[in-house]
Amino acid sequence: MSFTSCHKIALSGRPHGLPPSVVYRLRSIGNNSSSRNFASSAARQKERVLIVGSGWGGYGVLKGIDKKRWDVTIVSPNNYFNFTPLLASCAVGTLEFRCAVEPVRRYAPQVAAYQAWCDKIDFGLKTVECMPATPVPFDASAPATPFTLRWDKIVLAAGAYSQTFGVPGVKENAHFLKDVRDARKIRIRVLECFEQAMQPTLSDIDRRNLLNFCIVGGGPTGVEFAAELHDLIHAEMANHYPTLAKLAKITIFDVAPSILGSFDKSLVEFTEKTFSRDGISILTSHHVERVQPGKMFVKERGEVPFGILVWSTGLAPNPLINSITEFKKDEKTKSVLTDEHLNLIRNDATVDPDVWGIGDCAQIEDAILPATAQVANQKAQYLVNKLNKLVKDQPSSKPFQFENQGSLAYIGDWKAIYDNSHKESKILNKESGRVAWLLWRSAYFTMTLSWRNKILVPMYWFLNCDKISPLIRNRISNPPTGIFGRDITRF
Ligand SMILES: Cc1cc2nc3c(=O)[nH]c(=O)nc-3n(C[C@H](O)[C@H](O)[C@H](O)COP(=O)(O)OP(=O)(O)OC[C@H]3O[C@@H](n4cnc5c(N)ncnc54)[C@H](O)[C@@H]3O)c2cc1C
Repeated sequence: MSFTSCHKIALSGRPHGLPPSVVYRLRSIGNNSSSRNFASSAARQKERVLIVGSGWGGYGVLKGIDKKRWDVTIVSPNNYFNFTPLLASCAVGTLEFRCAVEPVRRYAPQVAAYQAWCDKIDFGLKTVECMPATPVPFDASAPATPFTLRWDKIVLAAGAYSQTFGVPGVKENAHFLKDVRDARKIRIRVLECFEQAMQPTLSDIDRRNLLNFCIVGGGPTGVEFAAELHDLIHAEMANHYPTLAKLAKITIFDVAPSILGSFDKSLVEFTEKTFSRDGISILTSHHVERVQPGKMFVKERGEVPFGILVWSTGLAPNPLINSITEFKKDEKTKSVLTDEHLNLIRNDATVDPDVWGIGDCAQIEDAILPATAQVANQKAQYLVNKLNKLVKDQPSSKPFQFENQGSLAYIGDWKAIYDNSHKESKILNKESGRVAWLLWRSAYFTMTLSWRNKILVPMYWFLNCDKISPLIRNRISNPPTGIFGRDITRF
C-alpha cells in the first residue's frame, strides 16, 4: 500500500502501518501557525484529488473514481453518506437508520478519509485547513488542533445548510431533517411526546398541545415527513395509544400560496385532497415570526403550541462556500458557479481546471438546476468519468448534461406522486396513488447503493409494514393489522 503526502500530512504521529522510511516535517502553511503539515520525503507518484463532503456529490465521486490511478482523500464531518430520500421514513420507524447510511470507510485504506470540517481553502497554495470533527482524545473540552491537507485537484461537494430565514428561535427550538442524526432526534421526540401525553398528571389541553405536530415548509421534504408521521400515528400509535392518537394533529405551514411548488398542479391538488381526507392540515400563506420552546408565533394565527416542530424551508449557503471569494457565485443561492464541465469560474471569468463544484453548493452558470440528489448524483457520475479519463491522459471535452428523470414524493398511506411531465411521452409522465407509490419504492430501492442496504431496505419495509392485503386478511381468522409494525420503543 502506498502512503502519499495527503495521507501523511494529516497525522500528528506515525500511524500504524506506515513504512519506517517515511520522514515527517512540521511546517506551517499560510498564517495559521497552529496547523500541522507533515510532508513526505518519498517521491509522490499519483496526483492528489481531495473530495470535500460525503453526500450525494462527494460520495458519488468517491465511489467511482479510479483509486489506483488517483491519490484520493475525502474530508467530511460525517464518516458516512446519507441516503436523504429515506430519512423521513427513518424518522418515524418505517425504516431503521442503518438503511439510510453508507460508510465512507468502505473505500479505506485505498482512500484517506478524515472525519473533519474543511474550514478554509487556499486555491493558490492548493491547501485546505481542516478541523477534526471528533472530540479531542483524552480531553473532550480542549480545543481541537487543525491540520492542513494539500491537493492537486479538488472537488467541492460540501452541500448546503438548512434555511431559517433568520426567524428567531428556529435554530434552538425546531428540528431539521438533513441528516440521519436529525431523523433519530425526531423519532425520539415524537415517541416522547406520546409518552409525556400519557402521564396521568397532564390536562387534556396539555395533551393536545404535545400532540400538535407542526411542519414548516411545504416542499417535498416537509410533505413526505407529514405523510410518514401520519402513517405512524394512524397505524402503531392508534393501536397502542388509541385515545391519544385521536388528539394528534399534523399541520404544514408555508409562506407560499401552495405546497410542492415544483410539482404539476394536478398532482398538488391530488396531494391536498389526500391530506385533507387524512386529517393533515395545510396552512399556506402563513408566516412564522418566532419560535420559543414548545410554541411558535404565526402572523395569521397568533400563538401555536407544538410537541415537535420540523423546519424544512429550503437551503442556506454552507459557511465554507461563503468563505470562498476567488470564484463567481450565484446571486440568489450564493452557490459557486461552474462552467458546463463543472469547473469553477474565477471572478475574472477564467476557469480553474483543477477545481470542480458539484451538488447543492454549486450551480452551472446560466443553467440553474434544482438542488436535488438526482442532479448531485449525475454531476458526480459525470466528474468520475472525466477524472478517470483525465488520469489516463484522455481528457473528455463533453459538457455535463442533466437528464431529468422526474420527481417523486411519498404522500402517505401507500400513495405517492410522480411528475415527469416535462417529457413528451404519454406513458408514466404523471402518476398519483398506488402506481406512483410503486415507482417511489422501486426508484429508491434501485438507487440504494450497497448490497447490505438492498437487503435491509425491503426487509424493513416488509417487517415494519402496517397493512396486510385484504387478499390475505380475508383468508385467515383473527388477522393482524400488519406484519410487526414500526418499532415504537424509545431509547
Ligand atoms: C430529507 C431529505 C430528502 C430528500 N429527498 C430527495 C429526493 O427524494 N430526491 C432528490 O433528488 N433529492 C432529495 N433531497 C435533496 C438531496 O438530498 C440533496 O440535493 C443532495 O443531498 C445534495 O447533495 P450534496 O452532495 O451537494 O450535499 P449533501 O448530500 O448535503 O452532502 C454534503 C456533505 O458535505 C459535508 N460537509 C458540509 N460542510 C463541510 C465542510 N465544511 N467540510 C467538509 N465536509 C462538509 C456534509 O457533512 C455532507 O457529507 C432530499 C434532501 C433531504 C434533506
